[in-house]
Amino acid sequence: MHDVIVAGAGPVGLLAADELALSGCSVLVLERDREPHPPLGELPLGLRGLNAGSAETFYRRGLLDAAMKASGADPRKVGADPDAVEVPDPRQLSHFAGMTLDPADIDTTVLPRRLPGPVMEGFMTSLAAVTTVLAERASALGVEIVRDAPVTAVGQDDEGVVVTAAGRQYRARYLVGCDGGRSAVRRLAGFDFVGTGPLFTGYVAEVTFAGPDRLPMGYNLTGTGMFLRTPFEGYLGMLDFDGGAFDRSGPLTREHLQSVLRRVSGTDVTLDDVHHASSFTDRAMQVTSYRNGRVLLAGDAAHIHSPLGGQGLNLGVGDAMNLGWKLAATLHGTAPEGLLDTYTTERHPVGAAVLDWSRAQVATMAPGPHAPALRRLVHDLMRTTDGTTHVHRRTSGLFHRYDLGENHPLAGSSAPDFCFEDGTRLGELLQTGHGVALDFTADQALRPTAQQWQGRIRYATGPVRDSLGFSALLVRPDGIVAWARESIPDAAEFENAATRWFGAAHR
Ligand SMILES: Cc1cc2nc3c(=O)[nH]c(=O)nc-3n(C[C@H](O)[C@H](O)[C@H](O)COP(=O)(O)OP(=O)(O)OC[C@H]3O[C@@H](n4cnc5c(N)ncnc54)[C@H](O)[C@@H]3O)c2cc1C
Repeated sequence: MHDVIVAGAGPVGLLAADELALSGCSVLVLERDREPHPPLGELPLGLRGLNAGSAETFYRRGLLDAAMKASGADPRKVGADPDAVEVPDPRQLSHFAGMTLDPADIDTTVLPRRLPGPVMEGFMTSLAAVTTVLAERASALGVEIVRDAPVTAVGQDDEGVVVTAAGRQYRARYLVGCDGGRSAVRRLAGFDFVGTGPLFTGYVAEVTFAGPDRLPMGYNLTGTGMFLRTPFEGYLGMLDFDGGAFDRSGPLTREHLQSVLRRVSGTDVTLDDVHHASSFTDRAMQVTSYRNGRVLLAGDAAHIHSPLGGQGLNLGVGDAMNLGWKLAATLHGTAPEGLLDTYTTERHPVGAAVLDWSRAQVATMAPGPHAPALRRLVHDLMRTTDGTTHVHRRTSGLFHRYDLGENHPLAGSSAPDFCFEDGTRLGELLQTGHGVALDFTADQALRPTAQQWQGRIRYATGPVRDSLGFSALLVRPDGIVAWARESIPDAAEFENAATRWFGAAHR
């Protein structure tokens, strides 16, 4: 019997498996598809933007170089010079419903302070690149992946779960459903899935056009939808405000795509050939709880929304990082009471905010006279410093703050990448998947206390290049600050924080 079965070897399932295995759990991944790299995961259709928050996750697990290499990304474009003293101004930004932002308009003085480090920005990648890197890590950590094994039944009792896939039964203590937007685990385990219905059907396709020059490059919003052309030869994206009427169980034929393209572009452009295509909608739904007993959900299995603004993968990466160490601690018997339920209380609001962000974008693109009026207003607001800064805060993945019930302004936020004088960075210390106690005091005030959590919390001390005024911090394995102090740290307060997140100390 394994500790955990993960359903789905997409990016979120693999990252969840990696996190659990890094924390010493035995993990079995059951994946529906036989082939590890379906064509829709490769470029151009598999193109995905990882925001800076997700890039930071890869850095904190020692996977940044591999992920960037597999993605063909240029490390100089996401990282500051590691020896830099100042944080560089952001260079790339997301968009809102196709409306782009000017990085020069960001007011960094109102954002939480960051430190220069290997990750300052996100990068473009593909689903295939991300899953390749995560599957390699999974294999190095001893995760077993069974392909051609769609999950078809799920049962659970007080002891564990029983999962049926390809006619075989597998047992484990917990099941994590990462089986995508049409999750079988979500349905089989009885999760409530609520939200709003679709206004459009979207398409991405790799095609051959007759006379492609008749379709302008970029986002083209029309009276009935939108079409997108990118520098990728043959790439076509479309939104058709048909109320989500396209039946996804039917074939995605050349004739259908051509008629949609003619309707939304208002041209009689011809598609000679369709090589690959897929469809989606802007249905925005989320499970009411990410946990039902011994079954948990992460990624698209827990929330679906339109890909506008590219946030689904980033959301799933955040889920997996939040869940992995909590579930592992629960399995090891060290978790404090209620730790696993903080997965829902922390991640559900983040997902709900992304769903709203996606709905708001759709509202500015819909046909009719109201959406253009709203769009002009949003456009004007986005041209202000406050507007640009707000969008950057919402989409970069760097500035979200969980409500941990702690008063300190940094508690619940992603930790700055503190760097000791010897060059050791917090991001590197996190690579083992433990919590980290950072003690910048000259007399190593927290050493005796922190050592009581040896094996769960790494203790790091010494002169630091820039402490940002802090004397000590406790950072969770997911890189979130659990506790921080500027004044001489009180060992009893640290002990409370450590007990709250890592359970009782060794005595
Ligand atoms: C056109 C488009 C562009 C996008 N662009 C971006 C972007 O730029 N940035 C971004 O952050 N997000 C983007 N997204 C969203 C992103 O692709 C998804 O949110 C992300 O892939 C979700 O990952 P996942 O692992 O949760 O699910 P998936 O990637 O769907 O993986 C689920 C896995 O589960 C397997 N599976 C399914 N059913 C079963 C079963 N019964 N048993 C076992 N295994 C099963 C599947 O085969 C698959 O391997 C985009 C989405 C689309 C459609």
